[in-house]
Amino acid sequence: MSIVKVSEKGVFGEGELTFGGSFVPEPLQKALDQVEEAFLRYKDDPDFERELDYYMHEYIGRPNPLYFAERLTAKLGGAKIYLKREDLNHTGAHKINNTIGQVLLAKRIGAKRIIAETGAGQHGVATATVCALFGIPCTIYMGEVDTKRQELNVFRMEMLGATVVAAKSGNRTLKEAVDEALMDFAQNYKDTFYLLGSAVGPHPYPLMVRHFQSIIGREARKQILEKEGRLPDLITAAVGGGSNAIGLFYPFVDDSSVKIVGVEPAGEGLETGHHAAPLNVGKPDIIHGFKCYVMDDAENCHSIAAGLDYPGVGPEHSYYKAIGRAEYAAITDQEALQAFLDLSKTEGIIPALESSHAVAYAMKTAPNMSKDQIIIVNLSGRGDKDVAQVYELIQRT
Ligand SMILES: *Cc1c(COP(=O)(O)O)cnc(C)c1O
Repeated sequence: MSIVKVSEKGVFGEGELTFGGSFVPEPLQKALDQVEEAFLRYKDDPDFERELDYYMHEYIGRPNPLYFAERLTAKLGGAKIYLKREDLNHTGAHKINNTIGQVLLAKRIGAKRIIAETGAGQHGVATATVCALFGIPCTIYMGEVDTKRQELNVFRMEMLGATVVAAKSGNRTLKEAVDEALMDFAQNYKDTFYLLGSAVGPHPYPLMVRHFQSIIGREARKQILEKEGRLPDLITAAVGGGSNAIGLFYPFVDDSSVKIVGVEPAGEGLETGHHAAPLNVGKPDIIHGFKCYVMDDAENCHSIAAGLDYPGVGPEHSYYKAIGRAEYAAITDQEALQAFLDLSKTEGIIPALESSHAVAYAMKTAPNMSKDQIIIVNLSGRGDKDVAQVYELIQRT
């Protein structure tokens, strides 16, 4: 029996304090019911699993290594640090694990069209990629402000054959992109599949995204047992919506000897309000149709890492915090930037700014642990996409 208590409708926890669920208008609920039905029908289907395995291996390049960062470990003088190399996946991050899984589901139920929302563009690119792979028409909603900030990602999606629609209401950023995508989905769900990018949103998305991302933790568990003959003492990952983190954490959640720490972006500092750390500074509320910890002032949401810039967080992380199964630390923009530079110099691996938050936490923590202890860090993505931004940041300081 797992310690994770979740209802059939994706409600985590029991009693007063629960998370997740689905709080949406009726037309949208119909669309979600259709996704749930598809997920339940195929998730354990041997034929579907074979097809998923095939693409995980042949297209994404899995399994990726669990790499012992020997120079980083020696430099810090404490626990052994292993990096789960999601950065080596095709397209350079973990997001493709989920987009492949969901596109295969969409294909099974005969969807003629795929839609998705994107903030900085990373999930849009991962979705456009798998739609190109299967020749399915694809529409990506993106806030108009974001389309200007991330021009090159818009071009990348278009090169892959996607149509990018700029959301022009409100602040013209991610929230409006989500609203427009949901409206499209409610209207067109009979032939359209909404491919959601993180372990957030109404049921069944958090459970479905966990299902497809858990390959990270399953591989890491097997790999550490092969290499060290035992489980790690600490596993850690950056938390935006929480998909790469839940992917690593879930297969270890019932191993009580394994400490679990998610790392939220403290941005300019938790005390400034300019962060994206709802599990550190926030309270339970409903956002985008589900219940989770939400930042006190979502308007101030900020992180150096565009992929972490979300005012809510996955319901399962909210639940792990509430029951004390995981801790959620916070790392500032400055600390993440330093870790980005340090890992590059020490190991020849340039991490994504998102992943750099988890690297920074491991670098802070390892020296306080003994040399026979083990940390696994999820290196969720590669940092090539961030080099221009880091160049500008360094020029300015
Ligand atoms: C999008 C992204 C994240 C944050 O998303 P989660 O759903 O929290 O995993 C983290 N790392 C990278 C490299 C990303 O692209």
